[in-house]
Amino acid sequence: MTSIFSKIIAGEAPGEILYRDELVTAFKDIYPQAPVHILIVPNREITTVNELTPDDETTAGRMMLVAALLARDEGIADDGYRLIINCNRHGGQEIFHLHMHLLGGKPMGPMVFR
Ligand code: AMP
Repeated sequence: MTSIFSKIIAGEAPGEILYRDELVTAFKDIYPQAPVHILIVPNREITTVNELTPDDETTAGRMMLVAALLARDEGIADDGYRLIINCNRHGGQEIFHLHMHLLGGKPMGPMVFR
């Protein structure tokens, strides 16, 4: 089954796309949990971080470089931000198309609930 993120990347579902190249696409999260909340997604439908292979090394690295680029574009690089990748049930993953959350624009609080 095609993920909602693949549909956004293909232009078949609405999405506020901020960045696109041959490996990754970034768009705004539909339910933002911070003033800046962007998802950085591989164009290839990799389900979870567990499914990454050595062939995906450039894509995985690109995700982080694009996160840093967008953080600069959004003006949050100096104050700082949080990058999150959720994996499977304990990680709280809801969409099974690998994605990195870029969250910032306010102090992000403790890393996990205490
Ligand atoms: P995760 O829990 O890591 O799988 O996060 C999934 C994220 O996708 C959540 O933050 C959702 O708000 C976001 N999301 C779900 N559907 C859409 C959509 N159609 N467009 C943009 N973001 C979405």
